[in-house]
Amino acid sequence: MADLTDRYDVAVIGGGITGLAAGLELLKQGDCDVTVFESAEQVGGKLQTTDIGSVTVDAGAESMLAVRPEALRMAAEVGLKPSIVHPASRTAYVLSGGHLRELPVGLVSGVPTDMRSLAAARIMSLPGLLRIPIDQLKSRPEVADDVSVGEFISERMGREVVDRLTEPLLAGVYAGNPDELSLRMVNPSLFRQLARDKSLLQAARAVRSGSAIAAGARRGPVFAGLRNGVARLASKSAEVLVAQGAHVRTGCTVKNLRRSGRRWQVTGSKGTFEFDAVVLAVPAAQAATLLRTSAPFAAAQLRSIDAASVAVVTLAYRTSQVPELAGTGFLVPPIEDYHVKGVTFVTNKWEWAARAAKTATPRGLTIVRASYGRYGDDAVLERDDEALASLARAELGAIVGLPPVTVDHRVTRWSKALPQYRVGHVDVVNRARESLADAPGVALAGASYDGVGIASCIASGRQAAKKVARELSEDVVENYG
Ligand SMILES: Cc1cc2nc3c(=O)[nH]c(=O)nc-3n(C[C@H](O)[C@H](O)[C@H](O)COP(=O)(O)OP(=O)(O)OC[C@H]3O[C@@H](n4cnc5c(N)ncnc54)[C@H](O)[C@@H]3O)c2cc1C
Repeated sequence: MADLTDRYDVAVIGGGITGLAAGLELLKQGDCDVTVFESAEQVGGKLQTTDIGSVTVDAGAESMLAVRPEALRMAAEVGLKPSIVHPASRTAYVLSGGHLRELPVGLVSGVPTDMRSLAAARIMSLPGLLRIPIDQLKSRPEVADDVSVGEFISERMGREVVDRLTEPLLAGVYAGNPDELSLRMVNPSLFRQLARDKSLLQAARAVRSGSAIAAGARRGPVFAGLRNGVARLASKSAEVLVAQGAHVRTGCTVKNLRRSGRRWQVTGSKGTFEFDAVVLAVPAAQAATLLRTSAPFAAAQLRSIDAASVAVVTLAYRTSQVPELAGTGFLVPPIEDYHVKGVTFVTNKWEWAARAAKTATPRGLTIVRASYGRYGDDAVLERDDEALASLARAELGAIVGLPPVTVDHRVTRWSKALPQYRVGHVDVVNRARESLADAPGVALAGASYDGVGIASCIASGRQAAKKVARELSEDVVENYG
C-alpha cells in the first residue's frame, strides 16, 4: 500500500464508457497513476462505429440522455461540447395491428399516464383502453421489495398495456422479457412512488410530473448525440486520459485478479502488475471470473446476472428509391409477428448523418438500422450475417415499404450485451458489493449493476473511482495519521 509521499497505482479493468469515466474521475481525485486495461484493440465497449456506404455511423449505442447531466458533462470535459447535437425529430412510432402509430405522450416506463393521448394514438383496442382505469378501483399496490414490471402492470392495467407499450419500450433498452424485469431497477422513482399512492396510474402521473426527465424535457430535448457518432465520447476520453498521463492498454485481456498483501495483482495477456486498487468496469460475468478466487461469494452473486444478445443491422438505401419515412423510427412488439425489435431512421434522426449520406459515395443514401434479439429468444441471431440482412430488408419492406435492394449493409453482433435486471437485482448487487468490503480497494461499476444507459454507466464509473480513492486515502490516514 502506498505511503503518504507516494502516488497510488489504480487499475481500471474494462475500457468501455464506465471504465473511461472511472479513469477520468481518478485523475481528478489526484495522486493516482491510472492504467486502463481493455481486451479489444480499441476502447469503447458498446460505443463503436461502423462504416456504411462511406458514412461512419454508430453501430452500438447512438444516443445519450440529455436530461441527466453525466453524459453531456463528460462530453464537455473531453472537449466535445461543440459536437453535441440533438435528434432532428422527437416523433417515434410503435407498430400496432400492422400500422405504425405515434407513441403517445406521458409514458412512464411503458405505463400510460395521458389517457386522451393514448386513445388518440390508436395503439390499444377499446376493451384494452377501458381496462386501464380499473387500476384505480383495485386495492393499494403491493410491491414489497421488488416486483416484475410486466406482471405488475398487467395485473393493474391489463395485459394489453404490457404487450403493446411496456414490452416494446423496455425491449428497446434491455431486450428483456418484461415479466422477468425488476420494476425497482427499471424505474426506481415509480417503485418508490407506489408506496405512497393508491394506484399505478396515480403513481406514474406523480413520477411524470415530478421527474427530472419531465422537467428536463420541458426545458429542452430528452436525448443528445455527437456529430459523427457517440462512440467519439469513448475515443476522445481515452485520448484525454493518455494526455493526462494515464496508461490505456488496449489488446490486453485481464485474466486473473489476486489479493497480494495489501495490494492487487492483475495478470493480463501482457504480464502481471501490482496496484493499490482496482475498478472492475467489465460486465458481471467477466467480473465474476476475475473475482472467483479472491471473492468467491461476490463472484457467485455476479454470475447470476445474465445478459441478452442483440444484433444491429445497418442498411444503406438509395434515397431516390425510398418512400417518405416519418419520425426517428419505430418499435415492434413481439405480438406483431416480426423478428425486428426496433428500427432507427438514422438519416432522419441525425442531421450530421443525413448530410454525410447525401454526399457519400455513391451519392444520396438513406441509412436505417434494425435491431434484433430478445432475451431468451436467440434463434433469430443464429442466422449468418447475410441471412440477417436479408431478413431486415424483407421486414422493412413489409412494414414501411423500403425497397428489397440496398447499396450496402453491416451486421454488428453484441453478444451478452444487455444485462437483465431480474426481480431482486438490487439485492444481488448489494450482496456482491457488501461482501467485497472484506477485500478493500476493489469496486464494481458498469451497466450490469446500476443502469444500462450511457449516463448511468458514467455515474457508476465515477462513483467507483471515488470509492477506491476514498479507501486509499483513509488507509493512509489509518496507517500514518
Ligand atoms: C446495440 C446497443 C445499443 C445501445 N444503445 C444505447 C443508446 O442509444 N443509449 C444508451 O445510453 N445506451 C445504449 N446502450 C447501452 C450502453 O451502450 C451500454 O450499457 C454501455 O455502453 C456499457 O458500458 P460499460 O462500460 O459498462 O460496458 P462495456 O461497454 O461492455 O465495456 C466493458 C469493456 O470491458 C472490456 N473487457 C471485458 N472483459 C475484460 C477483461 N477481462 N480484460 C480487459 N477488458 C475487458 C470489454 O472489451 C469492453 O470494452 C446500447 C447497448 C447496445 C448493445
